Amino acid sequence: MSITVVGSIAYDAVTTPFGKRERMLGGAAVHFALAASFYDRVHVVGPIGDDFGETDLDTMRSRDIDTADVERLAGDTFFWRGEYGWDLNSRETLDTRLGVFAEFEPKLSETSRACDVLFLANIQPELQLRVREQCDRARFVALDSMNFWIEGAREELLRVIGTVDCLVLNDAELRQLTAKPSLVSAAREILSWGSPDHPRGGPRMIVAKQGEYGAALITPEGFFALPGYPLETVIDPTGAGDTFAGGFVGYIAARLHEEDLSDELLRRAMAHATALASFNVEEFGTERVTRLTAEEIAARVRELREITHFSGDA
Ligand code: AMP
Repeated sequence: MSITVVGSIAYDAVTTPFGKRERMLGGAAVHFALAASFYDRVHVVGPIGDDFGETDLDTMRSRDIDTADVERLAGDTFFWRGEYGWDLNSRETLDTRLGVFAEFEPKLSETSRACDVLFLANIQPELQLRVREQCDRARFVALDSMNFWIEGAREELLRVIGTVDCLVLNDAELRQLTAKPSLVSAAREILSWGSPDHPRGGPRMIVAKQGEYGAALITPEGFFALPGYPLETVIDPTGAGDTFAGGFVGYIAARLHEEDLSDELLRRAMAHATALASFNVEEFGTERVTRLTAEEIAARVRELREITHFSGDA
């Protein structure tokens, strides 16, 4: 199997109570690709500006990520500035500059178009839709977005959500999208869009990210949740959601040729996603994940199984 991802490729300026970085490699597509590269070949689609460093491309290539569809355009790379207070579950966006994304026209290579699995990482929904249309053979398509686009490009976002299998959002974004008060009611509302008699079309599963509290999976058949891996030290949550998505979608891509998309498979994918995201937050930006090993991931997945297991009568 192979995975194609479109999303922001960025430079981030981030301040947390534990330090700051003025310009570090970031972006939803980058965090996703680094995580998913532990499971399958990833093709990244998106523009970079003439300020984007060759060493940052090498960071992706060193994990065997295909950057052939990363297009260099005249202008600035996407830039995001954010700040976290002591509550690392919420952050303030201080600046978002689309840069070369404003003019980007995705034209995918045949290899990227032929992907089995597609991830529409966080970026303008209109761009997500144009990539979705080109990857018409994908067997599994997931999408992430954020408040910025739910507010600013709602109609386009609803249109692209109608074309995917899986929606990955945090719980506040799910409430914002549906105007429903609880996570479960919001997820059920979105799942109802996917019913045959609904004009909009919609996903058949929802992954609700809940920061340090973990994540939940809601399907028409059921509900599954895992806590966040219990870390004593969290330095920078930036990219945790995309790293989570990379673990989730990557694990599915690696298994889809030999397994059906069962709830059992999805639960294991949630465990890998949780493990990956927990490494991401231990250091700034991509710093920890670029040094990660498959053995470390496997060990953390085993620990998660231990801490979430219980036995005996209810
Ligand atoms: P996460 O912490 O997983 O939500 O992802 C943070 C990443 O998303 C950062 O590396 C940013 O570069 C990127 N980002 C922030 N705002 C936006 C936006 N409006 N559109 C696309 N990507 C964004």
